Amino acid sequence: MRYEGQIYRPPCEAHSLIIQVTIGCPWNRCTFCAMYKDRRFRTRPIGDVLDDVREARRVHRHVPAMFLADGNTIALPTDELRTLLEEAHRLFPELEHVGTYGGARYLAQDPTPAAPATPAVDREPSTTGRTTLPKVAGDPGPDRRGIREGKTVAELKELREAGLSVVYLGLESGDEEVLRRVKKGVTPDEMVAAGRKLKEAGFPVSLYVLIGLGGRDRYREHALGTAAVVNAIEPDIVRPRTLYIQEDTPLWHQRRRGEFVEAGPREALLETRLLLENITVPVTLVSDHITNYLPLHGALPRQRDQLIAAIDRTLAESDLGALRPAHFEHL
Ligand code: SF4
Repeated sequence: MRYEGQIYRPPCEAHSLIIQVTIGCPWNRCTFCAMYKDRRFRTRPIGDVLDDVREARRVHRHVPAMFLADGNTIALPTDELRTLLEEAHRLFPELEHVGTYGGARYLAQDPTPAAPATPAVDREPSTTGRTTLPKVAGDPGPDRRGIREGKTVAELKELREAGLSVVYLGLESGDEEVLRRVKKGVTPDEMVAAGRKLKEAGFPVSLYVLIGLGGRDRYREHALGTAAVVNAIEPDIVRPRTLYIQEDTPLWHQRRRGEFVEAGPREALLETRLLLENITVPVTLVSDHITNYLPLHGALPRQRDQLIAAIDRTLAESDLGALRPAHFEHL
């Protein structure tokens, strides 16, 4: 199996076999994100990916869970993803879970029709020379082969039926201004459309929200907007992470220039409190990220009071500066 660059996966995929399907992120512009800034996006030849899956079968005796990396792998052509899922489930009958990342930009709209049909005679070269697939009509080149923004509900259903278990959607914020500032490339309405599409296709919906992304001046709008989008989507799980500004990201430079004032632990906890107060739909809160000041797990609205009480106790009693372990940025 081959991996290129640092591989990222959600904390809950820690025990999954990771198959690298794309390298980097096709958007790669979010100002807070450092994950793939060191590499140019490209899709791996599907034949190479399938070869990796076969290699994994030879190496691993039991694989109950798989994660398809890197960023926004959902943007790949549906037929390639379906081929990959079917092969993975055929080779690993014990496979119970396959997860991937998918941003709203690659889910919300229905895809534009493919470019005028041209004979699909070119072959995408495989680096191993073992398996090849036809190029997609209207192909923008090998780096972004077949990448299209948007999926139809029918396509998502196809992927669900082929054995994709979850698409992790990075909501980050439901506030239009915050999304614009951080160059997320989507609006709150598109976030809602993406989440609802996943639901309609039968996927459980797991949303990542980024506490602190509004900075000090916009924490309130950020929390309220995020709660509104969560209420509109009615996801199964909300997973808060807390902003940690990594060196050399565009946001890090904005902070240095004084254009972004970072929320401290107090504001982050108050923002989380406001978010919890305003989520009105039933949802499970899973705080499984090391960047969070407080691990908060529970079912809303049933355990809202307990969760808020835990935040209030922390605000009243703790040394807030010591809440986040100093070593977390290396994890
Ligand atoms: S946050 Fe997601 S969509 Fe934005 S650049 Fe990073 S990987 Fe890409």
